[in-house]
Amino acid sequence: MEIMIEEKLREVERTIEVGRSRRERAGKDEYVQLVAVTKNHDVEAMRAAIDAGVTIIGENRVQEAAKKHETLGRDVSWHLIGHLQTNKVKQAVKLFDLIHSVDSEHLLLAVDDAADRIHKVQDILIQVNLAREDSKFGVFKEDLPFLVQKADMMKHVHLSGLMCIAPDYEDVEACRPLFREMYDLFGKLKLLPLFSSEMKWLSMGMTHDYPIAVEEGANLVRVGTAIFGPRQY
Ligand SMILES: *Cc1c(COP(=O)(O)O)cnc(C)c1O
Repeated sequence: MEIMIEEKLREVERTIEVGRSRRERAGKDEYVQLVAVTKNHDVEAMRAAIDAGVTIIGENRVQEAAKKHETLGRDVSWHLIGHLQTNKVKQAVKLFDLIHSVDSEHLLLAVDDAADRIHKVQDILIQVNLAREDSKFGVFKEDLPFLVQKADMMKHVHLSGLMCIAPDYEDVEACRPLFREMYDLFGKLKLLPLFSSEMKWLSMGMTHDYPIAVEEGANLVRVGTAIFGPRQY
């Protein structure tokens, strides 16, 4: 199994490189960082991935990540990619290097407060619900400037970019206009006179759509199934 994970990882890395070389709008030479999404996979699989070169782990539940973290420790960077509930914020701030899923002022305040308590400045991304799906978390794009400005004023939050989850379209090409729009939004925010924030990461693309996300300017992709195979629930 370990060999399979390594091979699949290499394949994902190659696909990312191909996507980068095909970019028309975003920089071809800008580095693209891979988040290996390990939710519902055990620590053995995670170890195999880390041995094969994975440096960032993505988990979508705080509890699950905390348990795995006890065994695996800090040798890798931990990213929270799933929805964060207010009652889990304290634990999340202790655990994660980057939280991809901040999507309300309420949550922002809770993260700032929890980070303050442990003398940390928490890196976060704001999740955008670009396709306005009822089933998805994230702010609508018209609410984005407000939340960006709020985050920018907080002392214990460091806003470092945006995240989105594209709809699960049958024809994956249908994601392309959304990714383009995200890239444009990201570019516009870069032009704002921000104080502490830094529009560094554009987190988009999962197993079914990351080749397109990379072509359209993602520099942080979250890939699970393509590396670890299907999840067993
Ligand atoms: C599970 C998950 C992923 C990875 O999904 P795959 O299809 O397995 O690559 C990426 N992002 C988020 C937010 C997820 O919850």
